Amino acid sequence: ASMRDSKIEKTKTVCTYCGVGCSFDVWTQGREILKIEPQEEAPANGISTCVKGKFGWDFVNSEQRLKKPLIREGDAFREAEWEEAYELINNKMQGISRDHGKDALSFISSSKTTNEESYLMQKLARSVFGTNNVDNCSRYCQTPATEGLFRTVGHGGDSGSITDIQEAELVLVIGSNTAESHPVLATRVKSSQKLRNQKLIVSDLRRHEMASRADVFIQPKSGSDLVWLSAVTKYIVDNNLHDASFIAEKVNGMEEYLQTIEKFTLDYAEKNTGLTREEIINVAEMIAEADTVCSLWAMGVTQHVGGSDTSTAISNLMLITGNYGKPGAGTYPLRGHNNVQGASDFGSMPNAFPGYQKVTDDKIRHKFEKGWGTELSGEIGLNNHQMVDAIHDGKLKAMYLKGEDMGIVDSNINYVHAAFEKLDFFVVQDIFLSKTAEFADVVLPASPSLEKDGTFTNTERRFQRLYQALEPLGDSKPDWKIIMDIANKAGASWNYAHPSEVMEEAASLTPLFAGVTYERLEGYNSLQWPVEADGTDTPLLFEKEFPFPDGKARLYSVDWTPILEHGDEYDLHVNNGRLLEHFHEGNMTYKSDGITSKTPGNFLEVSPELAEERGLESGTLVRLTSPYGVVKVSCLVTDRVKGKEVYLPMNDSGEGAINLLTSSYADKDTDTPAYKEISAKMEILKVK
Ligand code: SF4
Repeated sequence: ASMRDSKIEKTKTVCTYCGVGCSFDVWTQGREILKIEPQEEAPANGISTCVKGKFGWDFVNSEQRLKKPLIREGDAFREAEWEEAYELINNKMQGISRDHGKDALSFISSSKTTNEESYLMQKLARSVFGTNNVDNCSRYCQTPATEGLFRTVGHGGDSGSITDIQEAELVLVIGSNTAESHPVLATRVKSSQKLRNQKLIVSDLRRHEMASRADVFIQPKSGSDLVWLSAVTKYIVDNNLHDASFIAEKVNGMEEYLQTIEKFTLDYAEKNTGLTREEIINVAEMIAEADTVCSLWAMGVTQHVGGSDTSTAISNLMLITGNYGKPGAGTYPLRGHNNVQGASDFGSMPNAFPGYQKVTDDKIRHKFEKGWGTELSGEIGLNNHQMVDAIHDGKLKAMYLKGEDMGIVDSNINYVHAAFEKLDFFVVQDIFLSKTAEFADVVLPASPSLEKDGTFTNTERRFQRLYQALEPLGDSKPDWKIIMDIANKAGASWNYAHPSEVMEEAASLTPLFAGVTYERLEGYNSLQWPVEADGTDTPLLFEKEFPFPDGKARLYSVDWTPILEHGDEYDLHVNNGRLLEHFHEGNMTYKSDGITSKTPGNFLEVSPELAEERGLESGTLVRLTSPYGVVKVSCLVTDRVKGKEVYLPMNDSGEGAINLLTSSYADKDTDTPAYKEISAKMEILKVK
């Protein structure tokens, strides 16, 4: 039947873009996507969506979708059948494992694929190929936040729900361009400002939309958030504005912690942040006076050499002021991708099985050995940052990567590309021939969210189901099926008939989401972890206690690591981040006509002062050079940035790709690249 003859279908799905996790019905007729219809009962968004969720779906039917497996022949690819691709993958992976050991193999899962698919990826790495070398791209964004929360409160997720953010008396936003990166969540804050007189403090380098809506906007020097946060905390304690009874009852480590914040005086903070003491005192008093505070943060905090420490400092401040375990309060690292939370929750990380159960813990490992019927390695594997170095060192020989354009989104991509070229064998599974796929030996065609069943976990730890709306295009397959085929080719006997069976197995091995079942997630129903076996979920964490043996949270002492210097020659600090219209490297959104006609290409925001000094206008083409590479991009003069700060959106995979400039330096605790610590010099190439 022609497309026109076929019936109109409505299917519930979850947005494929950001971590807010908007859900809605998608109307389809044949392969045509007619419209997106949000529903009142959608837990994260109700009847709202942003431009990406509403109009960002053309990529699904793009001519550029991969429809067949590809196998490299010299400099080109040729189409192949699945069986041939699987044979080749199995022979190569087994051969490399035999010749160089199991840890010569590596596996990368994706924050865009489902929980079930991340579960299977780590199971494949661990139980079939015998290595813990498995990771996902949450290491490029929010792993430092998870680390900061594990240190202090014991759960690596948002304390409450998006509705708590809406109810807070005061919202503190640090290093997050929320209105563009998490639009629907930002809408909730904007409406609370109007309807509930909610107060908003924003700390950022850039005067973005949330900054201009804030009651108080502070612009500390890049990488100095830990200093003002610690100074604010010290001021609160020195002036007896802290929550003494909360601390006495629920928090350990106060005495030692107080010693370590001694140095963060107002003088010290003024000197190192560029803020005035009045600004710091004002922020401290507003936080202390509010009954409920929610702290939100994102990449402006985490993508630094001290990203985990600054995340820890935020949590310390919330502990000191008693802002945990009650509605309208807590810490909210805003997750980037739709399933960045789930990719780690389901164990695609080198040190933990699903539910953050340590691979080094014998009891836990034995549980998984019994569950999976194989022996498992108790040695922590390589994270994705270490993998790149290990390839350069000749220790890592093969990589199987799904759903991530690592060759664009990792930092210092010239170095990453050189690593890809050194791999003996590289399999990339994606919906498009991405930049990364160009380096592959085998490319496998996967299916996007609309073509499969599964679950995603949004920033509020909320499991939501997506239902298949379309058949996989061409010969493409859902990632879970491909992973299962590869496992079985390698001798496993997996026989999952549906992702629900994968979830059943994962839940049976993971106390954190023991009670998650597809039945409990029907339609718009959702569950927030931890979920007990009887299905009781946890919209708000820490109400009774913190998940440490004595039930108490821990103040965790941290010190400040100043931003990296690149030498006087590189005189401009290059900040970077998202745009509302595009998503990350743009592989999906640039294929949506409506979006691309509005925002056709990348640009560099420069301040009016810099424009004046260098003779720049909007449209002037410039070359930026860092110690690591070069980009070409045209300028946009705007007062969103000031002085020698420039801002380059990250949504370009060509000559304007930010990671041509960034370095391989990383957060010292989690290896998250220090994307926000890069300087460059500028030359004018062409005046407009
Ligand atoms: Fe999708 Fe995020 Fe926009 Fe919601 S806010 S529609 S989840 S991109």
